[in-house]
Amino acid sequence: MAAKNLATCIFCKIIKGEIPSFKLIETELSFSFLDIGPLSKGHALVIPKHHAEKLHQLPDEYLADALPIAKKIAIAQGAENYNVLQNNGRLAHQEVDHVHFHIIPKPSAEEGLV
Ligand code: 5GP
Ligand code: ZN
Repeated sequence: MAAKNLATCIFCKIIKGEIPSFKLIETELSFSFLDIGPLSKGHALVIPKHHAEKLHQLPDEYLADALPIAKKIAIAQGAENYNVLQNNGRLAHQEVDHVHFHIIPKPSAEEGLV
């Protein structure tokens, strides 16, 4: 099951460049890019370069690498108002079964969503 998911996982394909993405920051252990369906302008995702479906399955070194990238993206976006979200399981609204952190700017009403 895990091997099958690894072969078909869209985020693994994004890491390998098999699916195009708007890349933001890449390290040895992590990859970040803009969300294809942004909830607001600049909505970004940070993913580990290790296929784990849920947070509790992710080795700590990948977790430790990913969060500072979320921080860098938030700073680059102005670090005013934003959410960092990470969903696990269908009931928790996870759609892509590869651990990912959302960085979602929360613009003011004047700035608009997208
Ligand atoms: P989830 O609901 O699993 O926490 O969020 C998955 C996110 O991945 C969604 O916000 C969705 O827009 C994004 N997403 C799904 N497929 C692609 C893709 O092929 N490219 C990019 N850039 N984002 C994707
Ligand atoms: Zn994957």
